[in-house]
Amino acid sequence: MTTRTHLECSRTGEKYPIEEARNLSASGAPLLVRYDLQAARRNWNREWLASGPRSMWRYAPILPVAKPSSITSLGEGWTPLVRLNRLGKDLGAANLWLKDDGVNPTGSFKARGLSCAISMCRELGITKVALGSAGNAASAAAAYAAAAGIEAHIFMPNDVPQSNYLECQAFGARVTLVDGLISDCGRIVAERKAAEGWFEINTLKEPYRIEGKKTMGYEVAEQLQWRLPDAILYPAGGGVGLIGMWKAFEELEALGWITGPRPKMIAVQAEGCAPVVKAFNEGKDHCEFWPDAMTVSSGLRVPKPLGDFLILDIVRQSGGTCIAVSDRAALEAGARLARLEGVFAAPEGAACVAAAEKLLASGFLQPDARILLYNTGAGLKYIEAWSALFPRMPGGPADKLGGLITPR
Ligand SMILES: *Cc1c(COP(=O)(O)O)cnc(C)c1O
Repeated sequence: MTTRTHLECSRTGEKYPIEEARNLSASGAPLLVRYDLQAARRNWNREWLASGPRSMWRYAPILPVAKPSSITSLGEGWTPLVRLNRLGKDLGAANLWLKDDGVNPTGSFKARGLSCAISMCRELGITKVALGSAGNAASAAAAYAAAAGIEAHIFMPNDVPQSNYLECQAFGARVTLVDGLISDCGRIVAERKAAEGWFEINTLKEPYRIEGKKTMGYEVAEQLQWRLPDAILYPAGGGVGLIGMWKAFEELEALGWITGPRPKMIAVQAEGCAPVVKAFNEGKDHCEFWPDAMTVSSGLRVPKPLGDFLILDIVRQSGGTCIAVSDRAALEAGARLARLEGVFAAPEGAACVAAAEKLLASGFLQPDARILLYNTGAGLKYIEAWSALFPRMPGGPADKLGGLITPR
């Protein structure tokens, strides 16, 4: 089914066989999976998708897994595309859409990347994986590893949202809380992996997660009848979703399934951690490490993205921009989205609503443009953050319920 051919270094173009497990290229850059898109173009047809699986595996020919029996799926992808009529009217945007990845298994789009990565680990005979994560990647890794019978070693900052911690424990992962940031977690994995025999699945440290994430771009295209929107607002932490969607558009053009201009790609960050916005505004092509990164949008708390040069290049090529919003603005915009549309987004997705409002006001986005907001996660995963906006007196029903359970 797959049309995969090889792995390619994103910096030098050097090729590597795809039949072996690999992390970075010899020059230390992320590796990308390449496909025989001409063969895919001859032997595959976008009309056939109508009868495909209702998950991201409908795009199996451009995913790297060779054996169907390796596929570890919990129903990830093929998420709703919602037209935001009421919010659009409020914001003065006549053509506003939301792609809702909050409905994925474990409540975030990270399910896409980890379904693909864990499937590849299974295919390659890997039995132990490790990653550092600011939150949702850990939950997804733990879930897919559990489903595949693979051992997961997870390192998370000790102020990670409670939901992520609980999920990892429930899925039976080996969890270590680290007094530091995602960058510190990643460093621990890198230091210990050789001795422990772990395969590292940190963001962009292996070539498979991005392949799962790129299906976001395929779905946006398919759900909009192969006419891409004018602008996509994406909450960028590591930026892999944005890089993945751009790769999808490149492949879709090679398949002959889309034509015409690509969307303006807009990277949305939090004011408490905005290294990409800073580098963009200063005309730089790499980010500086953002000290004391702090935001309730745990997915955006990445002080120095590994793929910074790729994100900045894509945003500039596309005629897009980078913008930061405060946590308060994000939460308030998220409450407005929930109130008007019935979608309860993660603060990361809510940040895109706040950013759209700013960019409509500044005239960067036109009122009649086709604008897509990408919601990457479920609001319910962020109990602590939303409680700041909607506090409740102690002693409510949840606390009484807590009393029913005797601690071990
Ligand atoms: C990980 C995460 C992000 C950031 O994703 P990247 O593609 O790495 O930039 C955004 N939102 C949520 C909910 C996340 O879990």
